[in-house]
Amino acid sequence: MRYESPATTKEAVALLSKAKGEAQVLAGGTDLLVRMKTGLSEPDLIVDIKRIPAMTEISSAKGAFRIGAAVSGAELGKHKALVKAWPGVVEATNLIGSDQIQGRCTMVGNLCNASPAADSVPAMIAAKAKAVIVGKNGRRTVPVEKVVTGPGTTSLKKGEVVEAITLPKPAPRTGDAYLRFIPRTEMDIAVVGVGISLTLQRGVVKSARVCLGAVAPTAILVPGAARAITGTKLDDVALEKLAKACSKACNPIDDKRGTVDYRTRVAGVLAKRAAKIAYQRAGG
Ligand SMILES: Cc1cc2nc3c(=O)[nH]c(=O)nc-3n(C[C@H](O)[C@H](O)[C@H](O)COP(=O)(O)OP(=O)(O)OC[C@H]3O[C@@H](n4cnc5c(N)ncnc54)[C@H](O)[C@@H]3O)c2cc1C
Repeated sequence: MRYESPATTKEAVALLSKAKGEAQVLAGGTDLLVRMKTGLSEPDLIVDIKRIPAMTEISSAKGAFRIGAAVSGAELGKHKALVKAWPGVVEATNLIGSDQIQGRCTMVGNLCNASPAADSVPAMIAAKAKAVIVGKNGRRTVPVEKVVTGPGTTSLKKGEVVEAITLPKPAPRTGDAYLRFIPRTEMDIAVVGVGISLTLQRGVVKSARVCLGAVAPTAILVPGAARAITGTKLDDVALEKLAKACSKACNPIDDKRGTVDYRTRVAGVLAKRAAKIAYQRAGG
């Protein structure tokens, strides 16, 4: 196995493009190393991205953020402006694992590992996050919801690497939230995750985005759920409609963590709770 630690994105792309056999990007390694230890992954090439300045910084311009792909969950949680602008995204990322995992794990690793239950992904999608992808033919920016195509698979082409995640400047009176349900109190995989972002105008929801995790092969945006609360002050009728739309959108697996019925019902309950938090954060 070859290990490389390039200093630029261009070098990383060149290494990944020329690689023969399995090539893996190493960000925090909290998924990759587990897969390697259990024999699920045997890379011929590992490209460590933690020495690349464009991937290790959080920058902001005019209220929008660019989060390098190698920025850890712990670093994200310490960024005051980001926490203020997108608390739901930061909280979702900070739910990953433990303190030890937080010191290593990244949002982009969480995304590219492509688990349907990845915690940061529904929150990123709700917040209209985009992935900056670099390949040998240049750079492209795609909505986060276009990156994962199924469990363990992404739309990244050979040689491509995600350099950063961008988050827009939130419109005035915008709030976001992420809630997940896990069977244990800590260190477990979401049975359901819900990310919601909404913007208010005079206390009325002007626009919203609702994204569910762990209830389908990929995180899913639920436009019907957003419609259910748009134009309302999040009264009980609107919340019930939101819950119904979320439950209806679920296509979950049945496993030891939860049955199909259970996940479907929990999705509605969590959506209502997340919407209330987002509404409050937006000033409602
Ligand atoms: C004890 C433990 C607890 C955990 N708890 C949770 C949890 O609560 N919630 C949760 O969602 N996850 C959890 N995880 C899974 C894992 O920690 C997260 O998915 C984490 O965010 C992965 O990030 P990473 O930087 O460590 O990824 P890595 O392991 O470095 O990479 C993961 C995958 O993404 C690819 N990749 C990484 N960066 C890039 C890039 N820039 N461009 C292209 N591909 C890239 C890698 O090649 C690899 O295939 C847990 C893992 C452990 C070991």
